[in-house]
Amino acid sequence: MLNFTVGPVQVEDRIREIGHDQVPYFRTPEFSAVMLENERLILKFMRAPKNSRAVFLTGSGTFAMEASVENLVTRNDKVLIVNGGTFGQRFTDICRYRNLNFEEIKLPYGTPLCRKDLAPYENKGFTVLLINVHETSTGVLYDMDMVGQFCAENGINLIADAISAFLADDVNMEKWGALAVITSSQKALACHPGISIVALSEKAVETARKNQADALYYDFIPMLDNGVRGQTPFTPAVNILLQINARLVDVEKRGGAESEVSRTKGLAEYFRKGIKDFPFEEFSLSPSNAVTALRPKNVPAYGIFTELKDRYGIWVCPNGGELKDVLLRVGHIGALKFADYDRLFEALTDLKNKGKL
Ligand SMILES: *Cc1c(COP(=O)(O)O)cnc(C)c1O
Repeated sequence: MLNFTVGPVQVEDRIREIGHDQVPYFRTPEFSAVMLENERLILKFMRAPKNSRAVFLTGSGTFAMEASVENLVTRNDKVLIVNGGTFGQRFTDICRYRNLNFEEIKLPYGTPLCRKDLAPYENKGFTVLLINVHETSTGVLYDMDMVGQFCAENGINLIADAISAFLADDVNMEKWGALAVITSSQKALACHPGISIVALSEKAVETARKNQADALYYDFIPMLDNGVRGQTPFTPAVNILLQINARLVDVEKRGGAESEVSRTKGLAEYFRKGIKDFPFEEFSLSPSNAVTALRPKNVPAYGIFTELKDRYGIWVCPNGGELKDVLLRVGHIGALKFADYDRLFEALTDLKNKGKL
C-alpha cells in the first residue's frame, strides 16, 4: 500500500514497530520522562508562549476539538466559527450539541478567508473564534496572522485546530496570540491514530480552571495536574505516546518543526509541478503544504480513487458528501518521498493511456 491520504498517513517502519510492541506499564518514572519530553517538544514546535502547557488526550482529533470547547467556552461566550468545509462544520456541530451561542462565517469551498469576511463581526461582542488552520477537506490554509490580529483587536479568544497543519505548515501560537492550539497523532506527526493534543496558553489554563468542565473524561484540570509529573489521569494509548516521542525526538534532531515543514513543502511542490501534465485543476487558492486538492477535468473524482486503490495499490484521498465526484486530494504528510510521487505519476499515465482519466 502506498498511502497519500491525509490521515492516518504512511508511518515509518521504525515508528510502526513501536506500535506493535508489548504495551509497557505506564505508572513509571521512565514513562513520565517520555511524557515530559513530549510536552516540551510539542510546545516548542508549536512556538507556544512561556508558561503554556500541553495535554494528551486518548481519542481522535475531534475529541480534542470538543474537549477544548468544553473547557474553554461557556454559554456566556459569543462564538464565531469559520466554516469552509467538513472540519469547520465540525466546530459548528460541537457548538450545536452544547447549545452555545454561535455564528458561522460560511466560506464557499476552496476559498481563503479575507479580512473583509471578518469585517461584519468587528466590535460585535464576540469572545471566542474557532477555526481550522488548514481546512483539510478542501486544502485551504487560512491566513492565521491576519486572524490572530483580528482576534487581538477585538479581544477574542482564538482556538485553532492545527490538526493537519502542525509540522506541515507554520504554526506559531505566540504570534497568533492563540488561547489554544490542537493537533493529533495521525496527520503530519505520522503516528497511529488515537492521541490528540491541546497546547494551552497560561490564560487557557486559568480559563479551564474557572469554567469547570461538566464531564470527568474531558476535564483538562486533572490532565494538567497529572501532567506536572508526566502522567495522565487515566490509561492513555501508551504505544502511540511512545511513537509520538520517537517522532518528536527525530524531528528535533533533524532541525525542528521548520525542517519538517520545509520537507513537506518540497514534496508538495514536486507533486504540484508534476501533476500539471495531467487533466486536473488545482482546487484551493491558498493551499496548505499538507495536501493538494484536485478537480479532475474529464472523469468523476471518486472513480479515480477506486481505480488507483484497486489496480495499483495507491491510496489517494477521496472526498465525501457533495464533493465526492468533484474533488480528490493527494497528501504530502507522512513517510513519503519523491519516488513515491513518481509511482503515482506512472499510475496516472497508465490511466490516461487507457482513456480513464
Ligand atoms: C483530521 C482532522 C480533524 C480530526 O479528525 P479525527 O477524525 O477526529 O481525528 C480535525 N480537523 C482537521 C482540520 C483535520 O484535518
